[in-house]
Amino acid sequence: MENKNNTKLDDNQLKQAAGGYYGGFPYIDQWKCARCGYCTTICPAGAITYDGSDYHINQDECFLCGKCVNDCVFDAISSEG
Ligand code: SF4
Ligand code: SF4
Repeated sequence: MENKNNTKLDDNQLKQAAGGYYGGFPYIDQWKCARCGYCTTICPAGAITYDGSDYHINQDECFLCGKCVNDCVFDAISSEG
């Protein structure tokens, strides 16, 4: 993630941007994912896309709101942190 000065945000800035959630960037466990598509409808950043077979999270667009981690009904999204 980059700020308006085009520099990388440090950990504290990321936590602030995330509004409290900070568990590292989310990733999708492809074995657990049921391809329901729900996460693409709730991600406020539009960071989750479908390539025709799998769902992926674009970590350049993700701002760590945590919504997908909390709301995937199949518990397929967790954080690396
Ligand atoms: S909401 Fe969960 S199960 Fe559904 S497509 Fe997204 S990651 Fe997969
Ligand atoms: S943490 Fe938030 S912004 Fe990042 S992929 Fe999940 S819903 Fe989208």
